[in-house]
Amino acid sequence: MLEDRRFWIFDLDGTLTLAKHDFDEMRRALKLPPGGPILEALATLPESEAREKRRLLDEIEWEIATIAEPQPGAGELLGQLNRNGARLGILTRNTLANALHTLEACGLSQYFSTEDIVSRGCAAPKPSPDGIIKLVTRWACHCNQGVMVGDYLFDMQCGKAAGTTTVYFDPRNERLWNQHADLTVNSLAELAGLVV
Ligand SMILES: [Mg+2]
Repeated sequence: MLEDRRFWIFDLDGTLTLAKHDFDEMRRALKLPPGGPILEALATLPESEAREKRRLLDEIEWEIATIAEPQPGAGELLGQLNRNGARLGILTRNTLANALHTLEACGLSQYFSTEDIVSRGCAAPKPSPDGIIKLVTRWACHCNQGVMVGDYLFDMQCGKAAGTTTVYFDPRNERLWNQHADLTVNSLAELAGLVV
């Protein structure tokens, strides 16, 4: 199913990198109510307050990017896809600056051109399919030729809404979002084995 796919879109944090975001701690630092997604909570605030908290969020995520480490097998998987002639993109709820900083810290920059990184600054954030549609339009392909890989519900939802194949990356075998995914893998090496 996956070996002939040529259009691959990855979530960044927790998928190509080891998960380091502590969202509960981030909500506390931003004085947001517990539980809900951060970008959506900020969108409900008055603009001046939202602007200040977005600035703080950017700083917090920059610090996380600075200490980012690649997920085991990330370089090998991206290298394999590259050899297969695949187009590679990233769809992240982070900022472009933080995504570039993260890729640099992880040694994965060479696999992605900046134009193929869709951040919260250039499309409606996941679970909206906007970012995927942006990438497939740029690549002149159809959503059903693409694969969306991620470790969270929003990754599966945006893939499904756009019509790509969805791959749930579940490194701790938590089985939280299997039912939303076409396929679940527990390691990037396992995924690499499916595209050889
Ligand atoms: Mg993630």
